[in-house]
Amino acid sequence: MYILKNGVVNNYGNVDDNYPYVYSLPTNFDKIDNTALVSFASVAETLVTYLKLKTNFFEHLKKWPAYANKSDKELMNKIGGVLIRHIAQLHRSGIQISDINFGFPLTTSTVGVAVCPSVAMTTHSCKPNTTYYFIGDIMVVKALENIKPDEEINHAYRGIDLYFEPDLKDRQAMLLKECFLNCKCLACTNPKMTPSVHDAYICVRCKGPIFYEENMAESFGEGTCLDCNYKGNIPPEVVFKETLMLNNLAKFRDLDNIKAANRCLKVAKTIYQPYHRLVRDLYEMMAAYYLHRGNIIGHMKMLKITIEHYDKFYGNLSLLSGVIRLIGCVSSLLLLGPNAFNSFSQFGKILDEIKHMLEEAKVILDLQFPPYLEKVAELEKVISKLR
Ligand SMILES: [Zn+2]
Ligand SMILES: [Zn+2]
Repeated sequence: MYILKNGVVNNYGNVDDNYPYVYSLPTNFDKIDNTALVSFASVAETLVTYLKLKTNFFEHLKKWPAYANKSDKELMNKIGGVLIRHIAQLHRSGIQISDINFGFPLTTSTVGVAVCPSVAMTTHSCKPNTTYYFIGDIMVVKALENIKPDEEINHAYRGIDLYFEPDLKDRQAMLLKECFLNCKCLACTNPKMTPSVHDAYICVRCKGPIFYEENMAESFGEGTCLDCNYKGNIPPEVVFKETLMLNNLAKFRDLDNIKAANRCLKVAKTIYQPYHRLVRDLYEMMAAYYLHRGNIIGHMKMLKITIEHYDKFYGNLSLLSGVIRLIGCVSSLLLLGPNAFNSFSQFGKILDEIKHMLEEAKVILDLQFPPYLEKVAELEKVISKLR
């Protein structure tokens, strides 16, 4: 592994042993606060105690000439120090391994953390030009666009890209706290370029996006429109409509009242930007409502609008736009029972729509996350049997 550092090319380790490189990864000891350092130390202490009491690690260590004459205490301190260093490095350069939980609504879980030295070298961008995935214990880095020679390669640290942390403020706070990074990517410097712009209210003057500052004392605050720079407080009728909308949302959620869902939608469209997260959630919940009632026509209708929302919010080639299509194919295929249709032509039309949805999923997932192509192939088999 060759690394350019301060204008000098240094060789750290080799193909068989890249430990020297791992050892040289940044620790950020100077930036970590004391609370974090204490927690790293206590993990290291537990590990050293385990090695001492439950394994013959230290006996092996003493076979090395450099450690032969050291006391147990000296060796434990030495190994404890190395462990604290590696925990800090894992904290700083660890790559998050996430998996997507299939279902409505779509969620993700972290299944592990790994240090992959050559990837840890690349910088962060909230809208990265590469993506990564794992095949067993091999990490694959894949370009998302044509990267020119000499152009910087970047990836999203912690898997925090616009898909998983679309909110500008939350994303920046997390990057600063966990990676000591003041991100200056395009999505962080231009509020209009970050997906959460869709979560804004409608400006009373130009219909552009406006966010109102939360002001607990008065329960409403001032906002500035991103398009026309109009400054104003949240209008009382918007506060009233929002309360009405949330009451209807609760009725839908708690009582399965679909009429309340439609009332909620109607009001939301008058105060929020068209692709607001709450509106998307509502369509997704309505898709689930029809799914649970075995109503394929209703389910497909809500699914198509939900997909449109994902495309507008995250981008139509985003990972989540691919995954929502894949999930939609699974749920729709589940509903294709003999009693679902009045006529055969209706069956053919719906099947064509599912097929189309799967083809789109395939294109997106081939770009963003090839491991999911296996799931696409399974569904293709199911569809070919239905024909
Ligand atoms: Zn950024
Ligand atoms: Zn405006």
